[in-house]
Amino acid sequence: MSVKVVIQGACGRMGKALIRCILEEKVQGLELVGAVDRREAEQGKDAGVMAGCKAAGVNVTNRLEEVGPDADVIIDFSSHTATAGNAPHIAEWGTAWVIGTTGLNEEEQAAVHAAAEKTPVVLSGNMSMGINLLCHLVELGAQSLKGKGYDVEVLESHHNQKKDSPSGTALMLGQAAADGYGWDLKEAQVDGRSGMPGERPEKEIGFHAIRGGDIVGDHTVMFAGVGELLELSHRATSRDVFAIGALQAALWVAGKEARLYTMKDAMKYVL
Ligand code: NAP
Repeated sequence: MSVKVVIQGACGRMGKALIRCILEEKVQGLELVGAVDRREAEQGKDAGVMAGCKAAGVNVTNRLEEVGPDADVIIDFSSHTATAGNAPHIAEWGTAWVIGTTGLNEEEQAAVHAAAEKTPVVLSGNMSMGINLLCHLVELGAQSLKGKGYDVEVLESHHNQKKDSPSGTALMLGQAAADGYGWDLKEAQVDGRSGMPGERPEKEIGFHAIRGGDIVGDHTVMFAGVGELLELSHRATSRDVFAIGALQAALWVAGKEARLYTMKDAMKYVL
């Protein structure tokens, strides 16, 4: 039996990639049963055709409540406000939820955490296998370099339509470095520098965001020591890596008990 999936944010860059990957069976065992988006011009269109592939037999709607309650999993790549607004409804329906949407503030994150008490939720700022492995490597690196005078900086580059900064992925990588150093990321995080910030304190993780063109997503974590620079990098060249990761997470989370999961949990199934 297939896992019934609804895509929230269906008409966006990620939504289209997800629909295409389901229809092309890049991950097997999934059935598209709903495509939700607010874009007026796309309402009522076949979701597969809208995404640039074969007909899906599912029309785009702006009403999640029409398709969400009967689905097994809702995959959300929309906007932070939509995610937070939908949280109480998804909790009430008990539909499993895979959230790739980034840029959630503390209140919006709290809404997701509350939903995870009633339904299983996978939340990750990056669904690719490479980035999740990189987080692990960064934490290991930080554990080894802790207390040895290596400054950590996180660099990220994205397309010019991206709305949040630093990226959710940059924050995951910064968190991994902070975990390895035993620091609280909130205390150490500095977003860019300008003016006269003065000498760099040791307990600082700098985040730097480049925006331009159609860059899918580049991330580098620097450990800058005296006399050497260690750089750990990842480059996404296709959104399919995020879509495939999210679809694998959807397969994994369907039917799990209510809890907030990460891609680390879901990837145990894939790796
Ligand atoms: P996008 O192209 O702007 O797509 C988002 C889609 O969601 C748009 O069609 C948008 O409509 C729609 N939408 C926004 N608010 C909505 C609402 N309230 N109800 C219904 N539909 C709504 O963005 P994207 O590049 O696909 O990225 C989407 C999100 O995923 C972003 O937060 C991005 O950072 C994140 N992301 C995460 C990963 C990961 O691996 N976790 C990877 C890539 C991207 P409008 O155009 O009208 O706003």
